[in-house]
Amino acid sequence: MTEYTFDTQVLPGDDAGVAAAGRLLAAGQLVGIPTETVYGLAADATDAAAVLSIYAAKERPADNPLIVHIAELEEIYNIAAEVPEAALRLAKAFWPGPLTIILPRGKNIPPEVSAGLDTVSIRMPSHPVARAIIKASGKPLAAPSGNRSGRPSPTEARHMLEDMNGRIPLIVDGGECSVGVESTVMTLCTQEPLVLRPGAVTAEQLSAVLGCPVLLSHAITEGLKEGEAPQSPGMKYKHYAPKAEVTLVVGDTAQYTAYVNAHAEEGRMALCFAEDEPALQIPCVVYGAADKPEQQAQQVFSALRRLDECGAKTVLAHCPQTGGVALAVYNRLLRAAAFRVIQL
Ligand code: AMP
Ligand code: MG
Repeated sequence: MTEYTFDTQVLPGDDAGVAAAGRLLAAGQLVGIPTETVYGLAADATDAAAVLSIYAAKERPADNPLIVHIAELEEIYNIAAEVPEAALRLAKAFWPGPLTIILPRGKNIPPEVSAGLDTVSIRMPSHPVARAIIKASGKPLAAPSGNRSGRPSPTEARHMLEDMNGRIPLIVDGGECSVGVESTVMTLCTQEPLVLRPGAVTAEQLSAVLGCPVLLSHAITEGLKEGEAPQSPGMKYKHYAPKAEVTLVVGDTAQYTAYVNAHAEEGRMALCFAEDEPALQIPCVVYGAADKPEQQAQQVFSALRRLDECGAKTVLAHCPQTGGVALAVYNRLLRAAAFRVIQL
């Protein structure tokens, strides 16, 4: 295990912060960057050694590939070996924004970025500070979420500092992430377009732009079957987990609050909707209104971290809906709960 002996600097996302980030990245160093989805741990995607240091700092399994971030559409031709018409249509509709597209990997991108796969995932973020840093570095940036592997993704600079202090020289603070869950990951390398990870861009929206069905990987809601090869390596791993043991509880406000109140115990907290809070008799953290999936997405990861800060040992989480944007929230909470679900 590497010894870490220095403090990580946190700079605001102004001209000086962006310039410092650009210099470090161009020199092969790691920088924490804000994006509209979550904070990312960035390195020059064309520098294999820099990319490998991402895996080390995150303690990320070596077979879990990274997303390459670009600031201009033309860059896609330097990253992918082929750019089908469907990719351009999706890019025009959803970039800059929370959509990652998987294409055949081009020769400028070292295999380390893709954990040896012959595909590469590409996204153009909309956060102005992310875009400015990509441009300042002059490089495409490989950037997974900026948490230590297995932890909830960071949606504020201080979350990233918690996980990365002493491991990287700089985090640029661009405020709270507006989307709050990681990008929708979809592949165009399968026979039919397939969503591997749900995000703020929904399968229905993708399908409307492409004019064809877009499938959802079954692993999004079911996990992998015993011995099944994952379509995306990230599906294999424990994810988003706070220290507390989380259980998802499916039911309406009255059912959920009655269940939680009847199962109060030492160290137990609720992760609930705003509507639940007045009726709850145990400490709780709210993650948005029941009918506002965008709000839930924006708050879910910081809520998970807050539960740890409060010292929760077990958490009863009110299960979100499972369609549209809420599918992304459900997918994250299901993994945070290691697939423990109680149906009322
Ligand atoms: P993160 O950077 O933490 O948001 O994780 C990126 C996610 O995208 C992981 O779940 C990866 O497994 C997935 N991913 C990245 N590149 C590829 C690829 N080439 N093929 C399949 N999945 C990928
Ligand atoms: Mg991640």
